[in-house]
Amino acid sequence: MLLGCIADDFTGATDLASTLVRQGMRTVQVIGVPGAGPEAVPEADAVVVALKSRTAPAGDAVAWALAACERLLAAGARQIFWKYCSTFDSTPTGNIGPVADALMKRLDASVTLFCPAFPANGRTIYQGHLFVGGALLSESGMEQHPLTPMIDPNLVRVLTAQTVHGVGLVPFVVVDQGAGAIRTALTRLADQGRRCAIVDAVTDRHLFAIGEAAALHPLLTGGSGVAMGLPENFRRTGLLPARDDAAALPPHAGHAAVLAGSCSRATLGQIGLARDYMPTLELDVLATPDAAALAAQAVAWMEGRLSAAPVLIAASAPPDRVAALQAKLGREAAGALVETALAAVAGALVARGVRRLLVAGGETSGAVVQQLGVRTLRIGAEIDPGVPWTYAQGTGPALHLALKSGNFGGRDFFVKAFEHG
Ligand code: ADP
Repeated sequence: MLLGCIADDFTGATDLASTLVRQGMRTVQVIGVPGAGPEAVPEADAVVVALKSRTAPAGDAVAWALAACERLLAAGARQIFWKYCSTFDSTPTGNIGPVADALMKRLDASVTLFCPAFPANGRTIYQGHLFVGGALLSESGMEQHPLTPMIDPNLVRVLTAQTVHGVGLVPFVVVDQGAGAIRTALTRLADQGRRCAIVDAVTDRHLFAIGEAAALHPLLTGGSGVAMGLPENFRRTGLLPARDDAAALPPHAGHAAVLAGSCSRATLGQIGLARDYMPTLELDVLATPDAAALAAQAVAWMEGRLSAAPVLIAASAPPDRVAALQAKLGREAAGALVETALAAVAGALVARGVRRLLVAGGETSGAVVQQLGVRTLRIGAEIDPGVPWTYAQGTGPALHLALKSGNFGGRDFFVKAFEHG
């Protein structure tokens, strides 16, 4: 392994892993801190450990990140990347700074850069201020986030509240001059005792330059965007061969299915289109608010229908029906009921030979991954931006798995997904 990554949430980890695959690194995502056994960190150019630490107390996040770091180093990682959200989601007692401090100490880093910019998604940094599209972070809606309200767009100030180190800025005028100028500025900040550096970035060209400037850093931190420049560093030094098969997965066999628990507008549209293309079961959760009974309905329905052509099983419902169930059971209980049912359905599908499974919904995906005992995901080609096919391994049979957050994907996503090799 060359690059070891630690991400503070699951979808962010997949996003980072996909970025690295696109840039020619074979990449595996590991769910949670890997175990100590030799199998726990699979062979790959890059490994991304997906934590669930974004809103965890700093002490827990630090402990998990350090444990992940030890496993990655033991597996040969030459550089560690700490990945957080491109909107720097955290609170003054947040954990981006504390985790970075702990990793800097462990890795003996003299200066560490922080760059959450992701221009393709409208996240840019200018004079240390984070913008979302044309708005400052603090006027982008993120100031009202239920868990991590971001009321200050000045990342130098935000990070200063979270780290024991001095925080400096590598401004746009320097970044725009390229890797050499960035490297010089970082060294100057370290000499001044400012060991944390917010780095401006407005375009992908800046991100590539920042990545190049950090080639010899033991640690860097940011959103998935700044990782774009890292694979080239390893190719330049001959450590990473040129690969045109970084996204290759083992061949698939067996049956195919889609399982939908997302009630987002995008997913409802995808179900609407897929109905005409594949056998579809829409569970009526309101009529049968019982997880075991819903799973039994699905199991009875799938008998004789499974094949290499996908079937679709959905619990998804439009807002008025979701609201009706929530009014009846309470919001949490309603969600948990459907997640339990769909996790059981996923288990039944795999037990009956499904080996290509597409899951729609973030929480739904979490429940399915847990039910199937998935530990690692080898990242393949993207179906639509941000949603790759993966090869999942763990305690159950290996299978091809695609995990889609609710709002991702075009209207033909479910159909298109199975047209890929
Ligand atoms: P998204 O990625 O779109 O947010 P999630 O899977 O994270 O999707 O969340 C959708 C939630 O809605 C899950 O908790 C799921 O169990 C729940 N859900 C699915 N179908 C229904 C339904 N018919 N009524 C109420 N809740 C539902």
